[in-house]
Amino acid sequence: MSATAFDFIVIGGGSGGVRAARIAANHGARVAIVEADRFGGTCVIRGCIPKKFMVYASRFADEFASARDYGWSVEAPQFDWATLVANKNRQIARLENIYASNLEKAGVQLFRARARLAGAQQVRLDDGRLLRAPRILIATGGTPYRQAAWAGLARVITSEELFELPKLPPSMVIVGGGYIAVEFACLLQRLGCQTTLVYRGEQILRGFDQELRQGLAEALRAAGITLRLNTVIERFESRQDQLELHLNEGQIVRAHHCLMAIGRVPNTQGLGLADAGVAVGARGQIKVDRAAQTNVPGIYAVGDVTDRINLTPVAIREGHRLADRLFGQQAVYPDYEAVPTAVFTTPELGTVGLTQEQALAQVPAIEVYRSRFRPLKDTLGSSTQRVLFKLITDAQTQRILGAHMLGADAGEMIQLLAVAIKMGATKADLDRTVALHPSMAEEWVTLGHQPEKIIATAPAPAAVPLP
Ligand code: FAD
Ligand code: NDP
Repeated sequence: MSATAFDFIVIGGGSGGVRAARIAANHGARVAIVEADRFGGTCVIRGCIPKKFMVYASRFADEFASARDYGWSVEAPQFDWATLVANKNRQIARLENIYASNLEKAGVQLFRARARLAGAQQVRLDDGRLLRAPRILIATGGTPYRQAAWAGLARVITSEELFELPKLPPSMVIVGGGYIAVEFACLLQRLGCQTTLVYRGEQILRGFDQELRQGLAEALRAAGITLRLNTVIERFESRQDQLELHLNEGQIVRAHHCLMAIGRVPNTQGLGLADAGVAVGARGQIKVDRAAQTNVPGIYAVGDVTDRINLTPVAIREGHRLADRLFGQQAVYPDYEAVPTAVFTTPELGTVGLTQEQALAQVPAIEVYRSRFRPLKDTLGSSTQRVLFKLITDAQTQRILGAHMLGADAGEMIQLLAVAIKMGATKADLDRTVALHPSMAEEWVTLGHQPEKIIATAPAPAAVPLP
């Protein structure tokens, strides 16, 4: 069979692939995109978007509680999981169609099939079709890490199955201490599922600012989540409608389901990478340089399959910049410094730039400005939650190195603060900005003038690796 010719073939219709395909087509390239499952990829179908709907659903629990403090009578509110899942699925199907139709409108040719590299400049689809292009992009994302120890146990699930559970389980054990584990612990507990979080390390969210990790752990406990640190599961046993989880040190925990959130691995199986000579790293990630170029000329990779910063906006930026370079004659590259991120727990955690620990490894001395207080909205009610604002500056230049927040709308605030940080803002720039009152965000421009000054005890290393 002769191959259909294109200028650019994109394998994977998720965040990075869709953007690269659409921008390349806008630049005039003949583009094919191949998607094995649903256009939109992890973020739209089984990641950020459905997760955020569930986060929104869970936060009504707090709203109902505080509504009473504001004079509303809210009679025994009931939550229906099936309604949420059905509405979420409808919205996701709509988004999926928008993704596909925007690609078509841009002139991209869509292929719904599984693809693999097939010799020089060729891609073979699992329906037998053959495509050819001088430039091929691999944007196949990642998949939850699954261990053989729990293969075949239907009640041990990952985030992918959780989104489709027919009923909200009465109880859940979540394993892991990263983004997915803590986000799902918060939302499930609030929806009415008794949740236990089992994490192997000293404190959840390794790599984030220490004070925020501690503050969030306290908030999880205050929400009724059982947090078991320094704990691992040694054995799973099925018992009628429950699982029995045997922990180290002999304890047994029972739950209706166990959500394994122990990281994700790059989606490279069956892609024909070895035959094509594409080099992968120890975690199976495709190795690329700054220009998203693999070791094989003409084969590129972006997004989670390269396992660098595994966030949707990063995959999108990498795909966009690649298309601009290849077909738009623009020498533009993604900028990985001060990438803002939020963990959509309740309270929310938002962060941009360096943590206190990272900052001290980069400059000789830092100043730390903190504010911890009870939000105005909660003062009418019984919530004792405190928000935490934390700003880290270089003691010498006053430049802001990092901003961290634990509290409502942290993600929204950090997104805007990230602009200031990218522009090189100093603490003095925040000080001369007039506050918007009464708001939570005003705290960023009214933080005290008496910072804690910390001198680095070890000489600063040459560079700090990417998170
Ligand atoms: P993907 O979006 O995974 O797309 C890859 C696509 O390739 C998939 O559609 C797949 O079907 C397809 N594919 C794979 N192999 C083949 C093949 N051989 N042939 C054809 N097609 C193939 N990020 C955030 O920024 N904010 C969040 O709040 C957030 N929440 C998340 C919540 C969860 C539960 C998860 C799992 C992830 C979350 N992420 C979040 C991460 C984010 O979803 C990913 O970083 C992002 O989707 C990566 O985009 P990508 O294009 O690299 O890959
Ligand atoms: P993370 O890498 O964030 O966390 C994985 C967790 O699992 C860590 O706590 C890790 O512990 C633990 N772990 C790893 N291996 C094992 C093991 N063998 N046994 C027990 N525990 C283990 O991965 P997630 O799965 O939570 O999420 C994947 C990625 O998706 C995130 O890193 C993020 O990039 C993205 N994401 C982003 C979100 C957002 O932007 N809000 C939300 C959800 C996902 P340790 O720290 O000790 O290594």
